[in-house]
Amino acid sequence: MHELGIAQSALERALEEMRKAGCSRVSRIVLRVGRFSGVDAESLRFAFEAVRAETPAAEAALQIDEIPPTVHCAPCDADFAPTSGPPFACPRCRTWSGTIVHGRELDLIRVEMT
Ligand SMILES: [Zn+2]
Repeated sequence: MHELGIAQSALERALEEMRKAGCSRVSRIVLRVGRFSGVDAESLRFAFEAVRAETPAAEAALQIDEIPPTVHCAPCDADFAPTSGPPFACPRCRTWSGTIVHGRELDLIRVEMT
């Protein structure tokens, strides 16, 4: 399960931030996940609950911010927000595009600790 590895590495990075800050508990981890990152938010939440046990993040909440996708259209040289797809059609010129600008992100953006 791919989400388990993601949860594990997010947890490790959060614990490292916590140690660097000289704190002893992690209270919240905020992840930014693009809709095309291939990550299922529910599975990730479930995996996180498994890996956080018996760590200083055992009580930590996991916040998952989903990023809406943005696709680039080369003929228009503009970005648009697709309403369906993939594949994506530019709303202006109807050209098909598969160039995803945003939506594949998977970042740890904030760790709250005490
Ligand atoms: Zn276009």
